[in-house]
Amino acid sequence: MTTNNTSILLIYTGGTIGMVNDPVSGSLIPFDFDHIIKQVPELNEFGYELNSIAFDPLIDSSNLNPEVWVKIAELIKENYERYDGFVVLHGTDTMSFSASALSFMLDNLQKPVILTGSQLPIGTLRTDGKENLITAIEIAAAYKNGQAMVPEVCIVFENQLFRGNRTTKHNAEHFNAFYSYNYPDLAKIGININYNYSAIHYPSQPRNLEISTQMNPNIAILKLFPGITKQVVDAILNTEGLKGVVMESYGAGNAPTDPWFINTIKEAIDKGIIIYNITQCAAGSVKMGLYETSLELLNVGVVSGRDITTEAAITKLMFILGKKVNQEQTKLLLNKSLKGELSQ
Ligand code: ASP
Repeated sequence: MTTNNTSILLIYTGGTIGMVNDPVSGSLIPFDFDHIIKQVPELNEFGYELNSIAFDPLIDSSNLNPEVWVKIAELIKENYERYDGFVVLHGTDTMSFSASALSFMLDNLQKPVILTGSQLPIGTLRTDGKENLITAIEIAAAYKNGQAMVPEVCIVFENQLFRGNRTTKHNAEHFNAFYSYNYPDLAKIGININYNYSAIHYPSQPRNLEISTQMNPNIAILKLFPGITKQVVDAILNTEGLKGVVMESYGAGNAPTDPWFINTIKEAIDKGIIIYNITQCAAGSVKMGLYETSLELLNVGVVSGRDITTEAAITKLMFILGKKVNQEQTKLLLNKSLKGELSQ
């Protein structure tokens, strides 16, 4: 149910949804917010107060960095009391990273923060942008008995509402660009929006929104492949200032048992570098110790990322390292589900 004094803030960061073809280069470039609104006159039919803040300059999300997450988090904090819900228009390329980062950065969230975008610009005939925008606004405005239907950081895309930190952009062409392999949809979007209440997190008691703005970007991804050389692993693990590594291992968290590999990992851990083990598989979980090929990792102090996505692992590591707690605390927090990014 929505009320007609509902107010929604749209934060337009950029992305295909608002792009137009550059007449000179022929490439897609960001365009202003009025252009988006003009394409969707239906928005007036909601009867909501819809206000917007557009980034200047607008950004293709491939150019994004943690400063942009801080800016979005601060905008939400500054406007939190004034609005019932927030819709963030964002490029699809790194939307799952931003949704994951914001889920960690916004603490005690009681209002919807819905990210969306599109595969085709909103000015094109077959655009998916209109539907995504309209649905995102409807969900951001949805309340029942004074409680937001989805008080989480989410992604709306095509016919699904996802917990943001469970998503991955899995298709560069289809309108169904996102998927959540390890967690159910928060809603199915069809003729009706059918909320999956048991999958949505509802806060137990009202608290003030707090934001964390310290993200430590001194991390790397180490993706294993058969034949990976010591030089490559050494180069990554000896990066100056490195604090943490998301290691994309095989299957249930397995890695080579070659002594050089295990020793290199151990040396990094002894130097204080956190190694967070996640699987290269889209679905399923790391289970360290299940195979001999992961037991050694466990023994040298690698932390299991269980069923976390790469996007959530990267942003969670930046977030926790930003807290500057000791190595044991860091490991404890990585092991814990902070915002529903890990299954229990
Ligand atoms: N490159 C665009 C972006 O991420 C792609 C998109 O929006 O779909 O900003």
